[in-house]
Amino acid sequence: MSVAPISLPDQSAENEWHDIVHATPDACRATLAKVIESRSKDFADRFYSYMLGHPQAKVFLTADVVHQRLHASMGRWLKEIFRHPLVDASSIVAHQRFVGEVHARIQLPIHLVSRGARLIKHDVQAALAGKFDDPHLLAQTVSYADRLIDLALELMSVSYERSSQREARTDEAYRLFSIGHNAGIERERQRAVLMEWAHEVMLSLHRATASTSLPRLRQSEFGLWFTHKALAMFEGDAEVGQILDIIERIDSTVLPLMLPRDINNRSTDDRVVELQYEIDSLKFLLKNLFDRHQEAENGRDVLTRLFNRSFLPAVISREIHVAQTRGTGFSLLLLDLDHFKRVNDGFGHDAGDQVLQQAATLLMSCVRNGDFVFRYGGEEFLLMLVEVTQDDAMRLAELIRTKFETMQFQMGQARTLNVTASIGVATYDGHPDHQYLVKRADAAMYQAKQSGRNQVVLAV
Ligand code: GH3
Ligand code: MG
Ligand code: MG
Repeated sequence: MSVAPISLPDQSAENEWHDIVHATPDACRATLAKVIESRSKDFADRFYSYMLGHPQAKVFLTADVVHQRLHASMGRWLKEIFRHPLVDASSIVAHQRFVGEVHARIQLPIHLVSRGARLIKHDVQAALAGKFDDPHLLAQTVSYADRLIDLALELMSVSYERSSQREARTDEAYRLFSIGHNAGIERERQRAVLMEWAHEVMLSLHRATASTSLPRLRQSEFGLWFTHKALAMFEGDAEVGQILDIIERIDSTVLPLMLPRDINNRSTDDRVVELQYEIDSLKFLLKNLFDRHQEAENGRDVLTRLFNRSFLPAVISREIHVAQTRGTGFSLLLLDLDHFKRVNDGFGHDAGDQVLQQAATLLMSCVRNGDFVFRYGGEEFLLMLVEVTQDDAMRLAELIRTKFETMQFQMGQARTLNVTASIGVATYDGHPDHQYLVKRADAAMYQAKQSGRNQVVLAV
């Protein structure tokens, strides 16, 4: 029996793929290709029902969209690697590397992929039983199937590792960057919004009727900022856990006991003291966090002072993780200024720059504390709106569109200009790949351009 040698270190993956295939008799490959053709759906079914029983794998597979897509692509993958006759080893190899990158982006643990491959090998072997009279041919076919699956997995793992390292570097860079940016301003702002919330609680308490409910800290501007931005900024610091505990304690224990209010009972006053104590602790912990991390500002887009796009993958991935674990939603708005070239051509590049700065300020004024605004490209901006429904996102997009339409952009010496914007909106739909979401927003924005500009389009 001729078996292709294990590749030499300098042998390309394409050659190795080729050698494994051509060392296997035609009859073996043809039979296996037929088995795969008729059974790939069964293999994919069994694979997914098994994976869905696995607690760690479930997180990645329960979303319908993923399930349907991955199920179909598993079938295609099997057909691709066992296609007979072999047409193009290099495109098969490139595809395995690409799959590894996708797995890295969605942070699918590599051991789950290996487990899946083991399952498939077992099923393929079982399906081959009885297909050959000659046991020698059967053995060759099983070995051929195993070796191609192993090689595919190896190719995926290499690019998985490379991509994960790259993503981890961006993630870490983003963390450092978040810490650095405008820590002084952020510190004051968060102190102020925390105090505003406390003030609002006291006012509500003062005016309380039987149906009053007190505003919860978790949903306040401070709470949104803390759970979406501060967690990334201060990841790993001990105070983070303590602050989360305090927020939880205030919302689920202190506030519910403050109402209904009983004038003759001192218990409410005791609760107010307790609340004051918790807020003081929060302020103290925050001060420690900021003190430790007050560092130089860096990494922003120089013209607009917005986030630049290098941290976008890290930010969206984090938000996807939050959405997966907490069940919240979020949306992306991709906004592109219409006919911006005409602004530059007609009024000069400096005027164009001024418009971009004012556009950035306008966008910042439209979002909440926990949202993110990026300069995505030249005259393109990307907004990530946290904890919003699709309707909220569409409403805000429409509001932004009208604000652009009516805004008089200033260009020095009392000259003003109108600039409109086209906006694509994509809502997180359970798909774990951050690039997929941006692509949907981008396609919707393109659609808005195609339909005449100055409009909002929701991604399909
Ligand atoms: P469309 O409505 O299709 O988006 O038309 P457009 O002219 O806006 O589109 P296009 O993408 O062709 O041109 C974008 C222009 O934005 C090109 C470039 O001159 C300008 N631009 C990109 N970055 C900057 C910048 O930083 N400053 C200035 N002043 N102009 C910029
Ligand atoms: Mg553009
Ligand atoms: Mg444009």
